Amino acid sequence: MTPLTCPSCQSRNVRGFREIWSGGTSFSSGSGYGIGSNGQTVAVTTSGQSQTVEAARCAPPTKWSRAKLIMAALLLVPLLGMWAFVMSRGMSIFSLPLNDLGWVPYVVLVLVGYLVWQGPPVYVQRTVVHPELMRHWNAQVKCLDCSREFYRDGTMDFAFNPKVQDFSWRRVMERVPAFRIVLKLAMWALMAILALCLLLSHSLLFLGGLALVGAGYYGLFMRKGA
Ligand SMILES: [Zn+2]
Repeated sequence: MTPLTCPSCQSRNVRGFREIWSGGTSFSSGSGYGIGSNGQTVAVTTSGQSQTVEAARCAPPTKWSRAKLIMAALLLVPLLGMWAFVMSRGMSIFSLPLNDLGWVPYVVLVLVGYLVWQGPPVYVQRTVVHPELMRHWNAQVKCLDCSREFYRDGTMDFAFNPKVQDFSWRRVMERVPAFRIVLKLAMWALMAILALCLLLSHSLLFLGGLALVGAGYYGLFMRKGA
């Protein structure tokens, strides 16, 4: 063990966040109460994980899940299959009524939009941001006598890599103004088309699409901050 001392009280009774977390978290089944490794009483949940409050406070940073992205991608497969089936019979899917297979392109549009929208942020969080957060977590130490939190090198400040940043479509737009203009025009065009379809068909599907694109437009171009 490295002889770490607390910069506040010079105590040697210090633990890394990782040790506090793994020492206070146990996996079991059933429910009731157990004794944590550091003598604290902990509640055991039926989900199988029990944790002291302290251990929960020192939990590692979460890695974003890609389950929803995988699900969206898997859903696309049968939909594109249906689309290809319609095309193979020499028909346009857009000529089919919505209650036949006419709905397929709109669901495909929503799924592809979701993948494009959420794919890059999730990918960057998992591959770039999360490792940096783990590096920070691994460096964190807590004094068990005075509760002071500091880093393994004895400092109070952690040198985050300034190059590591969350992915944000807003930031992409700030850096590439042409992208911002094209996206804005595309969304206006899409809203106009949806509004026209709504007027012509009175289908609630287009109202939903209009609300969805409108919400996206608001989030991207009108909401302040974030
Ligand atoms: Zn201390």
